[in-house]
Amino acid sequence: HVDRLPEMQEARLRLPVLAEEQVIMEAVKENSFVVLCGETGSGKTTQVPQFLYEAGYASGIIGVTEPRRVAAVSMSHRVAKEMNLSTSLVSYQIRYEGNVTADTKIKFMTDGVLLKEIQKDFLLQRYSVIIIDEAHERSVYTDILIGLLSRIVPLRNKKGLPMKLIVMSATLRVEDFTENRKLFPVPPPVIKVEARQFPVSVHFNKRTPLEDYSGEAEVHSVCRRLRRAFPFRRGRTATDTAEEMRRFKKVKLKKTVSLPRIDLDNYSALPVDEGDEDRQAGIDEEEGSDLELGDPPADDEEKADPSLPLYVLPLYSLLSPEQQAKVFRPPPPGTRLCVVATNVAETSLTIPGIKYVVDCGRVKKRFYDRVTGVSSFKVTWTSQASANQRAGRAGRTEPGHCYRLYSSAVFGDFSLFSEAEITRRPVEDLVLQMKDLNIDKVVNFPFPTPPSTEALVAAEQLLVSLGALEEPPRTRLSCPISPLGRAMASFPVAPRYAKMLALGKQQDCLPYVIAVVAAMTVREIFEDLDRPAATEDESSTLAQRRARLTQMRRLWAGQGASLLLGDLMVLLGAVGACEFAGCTPKFCEENGLRYKAMLEIRRLRGQLTNAVNSVCPEVGVFVDSKMAPPTESQVVCLRQIVLAGLGDHLARRVQQEELLDPKWRNGYKTPLLDEPVYIHPSSALFKTLPPFVVYQEVLETTKMYMKGVSAVEPEWVP
Ligand code: ADP
Ligand code: MG
Repeated sequence: HVDRLPEMQEARLRLPVLAEEQVIMEAVKENSFVVLCGETGSGKTTQVPQFLYEAGYASGIIGVTEPRRVAAVSMSHRVAKEMNLSTSLVSYQIRYEGNVTADTKIKFMTDGVLLKEIQKDFLLQRYSVIIIDEAHERSVYTDILIGLLSRIVPLRNKKGLPMKLIVMSATLRVEDFTENRKLFPVPPPVIKVEARQFPVSVHFNKRTPLEDYSGEAEVHSVCRRLRRAFPFRRGRTATDTAEEMRRFKKVKLKKTVSLPRIDLDNYSALPVDEGDEDRQAGIDEEEGSDLELGDPPADDEEKADPSLPLYVLPLYSLLSPEQQAKVFRPPPPGTRLCVVATNVAETSLTIPGIKYVVDCGRVKKRFYDRVTGVSSFKVTWTSQASANQRAGRAGRTEPGHCYRLYSSAVFGDFSLFSEAEITRRPVEDLVLQMKDLNIDKVVNFPFPTPPSTEALVAAEQLLVSLGALEEPPRTRLSCPISPLGRAMASFPVAPRYAKMLALGKQQDCLPYVIAVVAAMTVREIFEDLDRPAATEDESSTLAQRRARLTQMRRLWAGQGASLLLGDLMVLLGAVGACEFAGCTPKFCEENGLRYKAMLEIRRLRGQLTNAVNSVCPEVGVFVDSKMAPPTESQVVCLRQIVLAGLGDHLARRVQQEELLDPKWRNGYKTPLLDEPVYIHPSSALFKTLPPFVVYQEVLETTKMYMKGVSAVEPEWVP
């Protein structure tokens, strides 16, 4: 029995998925596999676990996987609140943290967490149901999990321990799952939830400006400019007391004054005095009045007034959870909420009460070159499915509008759907995980969309060179896993880094290897201080902070022998210094480090330390917040450990006689690329230019730059 608060019950009843409860639960009862489709916001994530709980499926754990950590955490809190249950019953587990207890009945987790659990217990015996959420995102782990569960569920049924799998998708495009006979010999039933979606009028731009939005820096710069154009002064309203809220609501009810609406057609309200972003984008007054508009809605009579305060909030995945939570709270009285978001707002989080969506039509994605391994972030057009998803966000609570900053012709050229991630990235981590699950012939795995054969071959080659797989007996695609490979698979990092951990116990290097690996696997630890400043004040602050960061990088790089560990020494120094100072927001702010990244490194260090101790308990490694810098001989040892993991990322300085082009000076040759790659000016080795280096990855920006560079002694080169 669930004892919900009346207001929660009322809110639930408004969700479209509630009308389908009986249909869904009958399908689940009759079938092992069920696919559920419903628009974002229809209540799938928050309600289906509750249906299962109430229908008696909580004899085991009801597991829900999410491709994003933000969603796992926020959904577990939301469901606990709706059910009026404690977070020891409705819990979450993400890579580094969680609040799962022995009593947990509903568990939200990232898909990676469940994959790790399958390695420990292939039959997932503690679970009664697994829900794979956001399957339309086609994240690699989601795809793998569906493949694995297509085998696990029948095995469980055969053992008399029945289990259910529910795949939930925000789009109707589920044929890759339902029509794939290798995956499900009998197609699972598909239940569609009719969303109570209000109409959204879509307005296309006549012309399509050339601009790339969508990252964190862009979010901030748009926020700043909106705040200046529609200022909201932090005065009395900022205290935002409950009393004021009540008073505000009363006034609103009595006089039924609705808040004035800004006119999104009026682009000229945006200041065009800073930078030249607007001009580049081709948005000027003329263009603003050039929009193809549909019939204006009847209630849209108010004229735009730039003096109306906007309450502008950023939203992106690296933002701290406290900042993220703000979008769910009502904005201060007298203001209108305006959220400037990346893709996270497309499907995983439903922001309440959004009426207007402005869609730039772009997406920033990482692209890998399958042959060379070079990756780059590119801003490309999104898919039609994603654009429609974005538009749909405007019609959750009343009719809305979506303004597309591109023409209908351009929209017509978008691909219909985004492609599955597994076809776009290296797969060595997956291949190792699968081998560890004794899936030897990875080519035969029931992938919803299989990765290319080339990608699988490249992955096996790398794993053989790392020693994680035995040399192939004859056919290349069935190399068995080695004991080293098993140890590596137990570390929650990519195989190259796992190899470094596996080697780390020599010369008491483990604590350093753990810290370096933790720092290398966390996305960007330094703040982006090269971003354009909004004001002169900010510009001088940024310049000061940049200078400080440069100075600190030099300090962290150390001197003498340690310099040769290069950028990895800088990472190690930064982690050491930050932990020494107690890992405070203040220290990070002052020294150009991202607080969120540093916290992640701290958690990962703890987790890796535990993982290493369980693989080789005799080393008894622990996390030392006052870690002394490595000695000279330890640095030499560390450099070799790094080389062992990154051996296929070796680069040799371009020789005099190879200088085909003056631009190649100071360049490096790699086995796979014709063109040279370079050491970035911010690198600790920019001035040293050692004859041989290894690098973490090549990222193509203005040039092909190596990231995470460390020097290699010529005699170590195989
Ligand atoms: P779906 O999974 O189908 O996209 P959800 O179950 O996530 O739908 O959301 C259902 C409703 O619950 C949405 O209207 C959303 O706004 C609301 N909701 C979800 N999380 C929160 C939260 N933390 N606070 C307030 N409302 C929320
Ligand atoms: Mg959802």
